[in-house]
Amino acid sequence: MNTISSLLNEDWHERYRRIANLNIRSSIYDLTNRCNLRCKGCFFFSSGEHIVTEEMDIEKWEHFIDKEKARGVNLAILIGGEPTLCMDRLEAFYKRLPTYCATNGLIKLSRDKFPDMMVGISLWGGGEDEKVLRGKDTFAVSSKNYEGDPYAYYLYTVTPRQVGKIEPVIKRIADVGLKVHLQLLSNDESVDGFYWRQGELDDLRLEMDEMLDHYPQTIISSKYYHEVITTGMMLGRRFGWQECPSVTESLDTRKPPVRRLIHFYRWAADLKTIHRCCTSATRDCSTCKDGAAHMSWIMVNKREHMNTTRDMQNWTEVYEMFAKLYRLIPW
Ligand code: SF4
Ligand code: SF4
Repeated sequence: MNTISSLLNEDWHERYRRIANLNIRSSIYDLTNRCNLRCKGCFFFSSGEHIVTEEMDIEKWEHFIDKEKARGVNLAILIGGEPTLCMDRLEAFYKRLPTYCATNGLIKLSRDKFPDMMVGISLWGGGEDEKVLRGKDTFAVSSKNYEGDPYAYYLYTVTPRQVGKIEPVIKRIADVGLKVHLQLLSNDESVDGFYWRQGELDDLRLEMDEMLDHYPQTIISSKYYHEVITTGMMLGRRFGWQECPSVTESLDTRKPPVRRLIHFYRWAADLKTIHRCCTSATRDCSTCKDGAAHMSWIMVNKREHMNTTRDMQNWTEVYEMFAKLYRLIPW
């Protein structure tokens, strides 16, 4: 059997060492059922997962977070709805756990209050696509709120209409001194013209690779991630329910058990309901393009990448990318 030392030279081995002991135990929390946008294709609202009674008592949130910490969670990923509508809950997490906030960027987080909280700002393409899908060009606002912020980056959801046109978006982001991570639209509300065809995915993979070569200081990504997310394939295996690592632990009844995120849960804003996975339970797993799930899929399959040096380097790069997105290692 190959060992890490036999596969990686000294430089790569050093990179591997930086991420090997991170021992990430993440879970996802719907911080609120409310949002200041209603995007077409939002998995949260289209699935009905927002229909729970939101817990309003901040002390109950604090107690809940303490219990989550005791359960072993060391990275809280806050989604929604729009988390910045609930600053007291954000603060309760931030004071207790390394915390990441996924936001549409329309409300500015106070850096006095949250000096190093990681912020991922959603962006659904260029201005025109944003107007069609989200009702407004959010970049115009979010880029002013977060310009040059060292703890914020854009989470750019590429749509099929964006293929061949992503460079201007990357440039806009670079020009405001921010970084960007790329993921793909899953079209959860079947909006016409936003379905993926394989030819578009093949073109997009090449385009993302090219952008990474041209903007290595701006894009947080890896070519192997591009390959896996656009083909849905990893080492001859196809992504889907039988492979997905991002399933809430207590709802994971798959037999035989699959490699998965340890102790991962996704909690609703009533602090009682648990959701199936990191995205909506109504989504068809066979067409799911969730970027985090694909990334985690690679990460939990380390042993399978220990056949060749290239595979192990690919695995290391994807793990580094994940660690950078949460600033667990420097950019
Ligand atoms: S900003 Fe996010 S949570 Fe709000 S509607 Fe859009 S996708 Fe959904
Ligand atoms: S919808 Fe996606 S993230 Fe959720 S279980 Fe299916 S494959 Fe996994």
